[in-house]
Amino acid sequence: SPALLDVRDLYVEFRTRDGVARAVNGVSYRVDAGETLAVLGESGSGKSVTAQAVMGILDSPPGFVTGGEIRFRGQDLLQAAPEERRRIRGARMAMIFQDALSALNPVLSVGAQLGEMYEVHQGMKRKDARAKAVELMERVRIPAARSRVGDYPHQFSGGMRQRIMIAMALALEPDLIIADEPTTALDVTVQAQVMDLLADLQREYDMGLILITHDLGVVADVADRIAVMYAGRIVEHASVHDLYRAPAHPYTRGLLDSIPRLDQKGQELYAIKGLPPSLTAIPPGCPFHPRCPRARDRCAVDRPPQYDVAPGRTSACHFWEETLRDEEPPHDR
Ligand code: SF4
Ligand code: MG
Repeated sequence: SPALLDVRDLYVEFRTRDGVARAVNGVSYRVDAGETLAVLGESGSGKSVTAQAVMGILDSPPGFVTGGEIRFRGQDLLQAAPEERRRIRGARMAMIFQDALSALNPVLSVGAQLGEMYEVHQGMKRKDARAKAVELMERVRIPAARSRVGDYPHQFSGGMRQRIMIAMALALEPDLIIADEPTTALDVTVQAQVMDLLADLQREYDMGLILITHDLGVVADVADRIAVMYAGRIVEHASVHDLYRAPAHPYTRGLLDSIPRLDQKGQELYAIKGLPPSLTAIPPGCPFHPRCPRARDRCAVDRPPQYDVAPGRTSACHFWEETLRDEEPPHDR
């Protein structure tokens, strides 16, 4: 059977004053029901833009999908009639954003906003919709939901507001949720709670979940697979287990080394030298070569394809074999 979501060779460009920004350059990934894919990258890596193209919320113009397919249960949304496309995106997919305060309506109570989902999409009566709203708030573990259903977004803490966003996303029981930096604005303890909640709900509803983040540490416990993006490309795609055990791309190694560790307190955190390239001037060859500790002459001229490292695992590094070899724990060699 076809994947829940199957993105194939997607290209997105932005026409800017400085020229064409190549935000997404041949991205392919798939997510099945009951599965969590983490999409990891620095800002400007194309991880959010890819998701926006999937959801149909690209800022367009100036953004355009210039190639590829976005298949939902086998149907290419880019080719579907606008009506059909809206129906699928409205009812079967939902998105959670980083900033709940700006995504929620400040002058409507949370109960009214949650209830509206049922009134508008399912023609439910206000009273019934309100009861559903309370149910949803309980689902996302908001304490004393019944007495808080009339409260406004600003009356909730950041973590609780994020739960309300999750409740909004869940209301129509979508098949796919895309969460873009859902916990970035929260403090570390609350981050973990919200992540756990998302993971629990994903299992309970058997949804596909895409978690977009710049923080490898946040997704380690909840994702099945990770796609690492750089300059609009996926540079490594692997199971969480394989990727943590031994990355097959130097950029992934750099990201792993940038995670703060408790046993390294006080030590300076390794950060990848330099900055990601401008998307209007992506370097030739391997886009990572100006920053790569393993780069050699070939890397500046020869663009690496997606090499198959193992079944279901790819790396866009010419030297993935030696990268992997150097990474493997000694007892595995
Ligand atoms: Fe580094 Fe070359 Fe591999 Fe690119 S292809 S990641 S520059 S070693
Ligand atoms: Mg983003």
